[in-house]
Amino acid sequence: MAAVYRFVDDCEDKMLLGNKGANLVTMTKIGLRVPPGFIVSIEAYAEYKRTGRLPIEDIENGLRWLESVTGKRFGEGLMVSVRSSAPVSMPGMMDTMLNIKSKAHMISAIKKIFGSWDNLRAVEYRRLNNIPRDIGTSAVIQAMVMGNKDDRSGTGVVFTRNASTGERHLFGEYISRAQGEDLVSGARTPSPIEELRSAMPEVYAELESVAHTLESHFRDMQDVEFTIESGTLYILQTRAGKRSGQAAVKIAVDMAKEGLISREEAVKRVKPEDLKALLHKRVKSTEKHEVVARGLNAAPGAAAGKVVFHPLEALRLAEKNEKVILVRPETSPDDIQGIAAADGVLTSRGGLTSHAAIVTRAMGKPCICGAEEIKIDLKAEEFEARGHVVHKGMEITIDGTSGTVYLGSLPLEEVEVTAELQELLSWADGFRRLGVRANADTADMMKLAKSFGCEGIGLCRTERQFNAPERLSAIREYILARTEAEKAEALETLRLYQEQDFVAIFRELDGLPIIIRLLDLPLHEFLPSETDATVPRVREMVQQLREINPMIGHRGVRLGVTNPEIYRMQVEAICQAKSMVEPKVKVNAAVMIPQVITVQELLWVKRQVKAAGLKIGVMMETVRACMRAGKLAHEADFFSFGTNDLTQAVYSFSREDAEKKFLATYLRLGILQDNPFEIIDVKGVGRLMETAIMWARRNKKDIEIGVCGEHGGEPRSIRYFHQIGVDYVSCSAFRIPVARLVAAQAALDDKAGKTEAKIDTA
Ligand code: ADP
Ligand code: MG
Ligand code: MG
Repeated sequence: MAAVYRFVDDCEDKMLLGNKGANLVTMTKIGLRVPPGFIVSIEAYAEYKRTGRLPIEDIENGLRWLESVTGKRFGEGLMVSVRSSAPVSMPGMMDTMLNIKSKAHMISAIKKIFGSWDNLRAVEYRRLNNIPRDIGTSAVIQAMVMGNKDDRSGTGVVFTRNASTGERHLFGEYISRAQGEDLVSGARTPSPIEELRSAMPEVYAELESVAHTLESHFRDMQDVEFTIESGTLYILQTRAGKRSGQAAVKIAVDMAKEGLISREEAVKRVKPEDLKALLHKRVKSTEKHEVVARGLNAAPGAAAGKVVFHPLEALRLAEKNEKVILVRPETSPDDIQGIAAADGVLTSRGGLTSHAAIVTRAMGKPCICGAEEIKIDLKAEEFEARGHVVHKGMEITIDGTSGTVYLGSLPLEEVEVTAELQELLSWADGFRRLGVRANADTADMMKLAKSFGCEGIGLCRTERQFNAPERLSAIREYILARTEAEKAEALETLRLYQEQDFVAIFRELDGLPIIIRLLDLPLHEFLPSETDATVPRVREMVQQLREINPMIGHRGVRLGVTNPEIYRMQVEAICQAKSMVEPKVKVNAAVMIPQVITVQELLWVKRQVKAAGLKIGVMMETVRACMRAGKLAHEADFFSFGTNDLTQAVYSFSREDAEKKFLATYLRLGILQDNPFEIIDVKGVGRLMETAIMWARRNKKDIEIGVCGEHGGEPRSIRYFHQIGVDYVSCSAFRIPVARLVAAQAALDDKAGKTEAKIDTA
């Protein structure tokens, strides 16, 4: 293996040349105008690390070859750049040196580039992004072209499509009479690329054709660095371009339609985080709110929060759950943590390809760049614009979609699913096996969930229906009742309310399946707190119902067993509602019993309620139910894992206490890798689920098994549920698009043989 490769040699191996180097070779090969050069490989880097020696002879040969192809002598006409190039993307983290014209300078430059792999910034970046340290970098030696030569020279960066919206046109900027670093640093606000069209139309047209060639070759949107020397265009770098969530979806869908990629590829390319960002907030109404400044709409979405001027301050406030907008003249790689902590970023300098713009777009955070009318005083921690002085801690709202800054905190709303996203998700639906349902308690929530494409309701909690004031008083009457007659009267009132609710939900569902969970909460949840209970009878019941540990107390089916009239009333309301809307609207309703530990509970409930025509299933959320899944399967029509309570049970953690008191420390110390309430714990909770599924299916081959609970909308958990043969996940409305996408990606990975089925579910 050689230590040095020329751009014209037949090697495009990224592990040897790094991304930048390998892509320069590729661009040379497909006929683009790239200044000639050669690459001191990553192997040579490793050798240098071991021995401190560079392959001097090979480098000198390379230089002689450069002299012969350019027809210039090194140090006289010929200058070179020495550029870092690693096989992992570490934008702007390592060094690049321009305008080198002596051998002595160049050898020290190569050492500096190799050394920059271990500079502080790069080390920190690798730590944040889990990149191993032993990969290393190559050094690219390339003939210089001079962007600062004359008025027909300049340098710039373009994306082959709009990185914010995904539209198909050149998107970027350039600076005339300048060399590369002036642009990336954000030190000079560049001109939009459209101005190049009028300044040098032939160059602009060539750039468009280069964009087309690159996209056809790489089959993805590209981020291209170029320099113009006296009217001649040179391409200096290309890589897949970072983009907003909205752009990611649009580009994937458009490229599939253009025939550049397949539909499967389009579905695979969009990341779950892209969708999260896409369903980002926007400003609800701007009436009566004053615009303080406008800037470039660098990353879409809106955010409101307190103004801070220092990244560490952003971090500090975010840790206290405060919303913050980081305001800076410009940002640099050192500010990453502060940017990550902030809800949005506003800069007064820099353009659409500045550091702040690129980083926020990738993170899915709103950003406004180059808002030159704001004058920032970092010392005084304030900015001034249009006659207003905004101090640290005051609230502003930024709309990164339009580039507008408002005074004060404006109401925000979620955006709707765009046409492109609808289309992508409809392709995803064709690939996935896992069903996607919604956790929804009311007809309104169902309507919203339907707009995100759910296939029914996997969990309808009935306690929410008791929380409206007039209903709350009815359930309180039931709790406080002294006679059976009083009890029955209160329950009848509740039954009528429930009936109404179910009628509305069934109509909205229009035949889609719904699983209704019977009352789960302990009764004292419906009473005021002891201190608020002034009426003697209320106080008496509060004391009587008080529990030491309500989480594992008198709730769920335990309450159903001691107070069967409640479940009886609920089932009656469901059946009545069903008969009221049928046959006009088909009703596909099932009843789910919470907190079950034994089949005897299920049998008892079945005897108590008259549930003719309703399926009855078990919410699998106790450890014992999982261990008895085989037996339960005989009597249950379906299972649905309630992974929140199941996680609490498996860990013996109460979620609230854990998250408030010690989980953060556990995560920081690495005692736990993830918050098990967010990402399913495969090794503990997951094993229990796998065992339960195995026994259930052994006894009832096609028993329907779902997951409700927040894990049902979390990407890694969804993949896992797919693998262990769950039939569907049920999650909150806003997570449905992510669930549809990830379920499809999991199925496509199976097809590609990337994952093996976790267990034999037959
Ligand atoms: P980074 O990885 O930080 O982007 P690069 O190696 O791409 O660093 O160099 C930064 C900029 O320097 C390039 O975008 C380009 O404008 C300029 N540059 C690098 N090599 C040359 C060259 N041979 N001729 C002209 N400009 C160059
Ligand atoms: Mg570059
Ligand atoms: Mg529960």
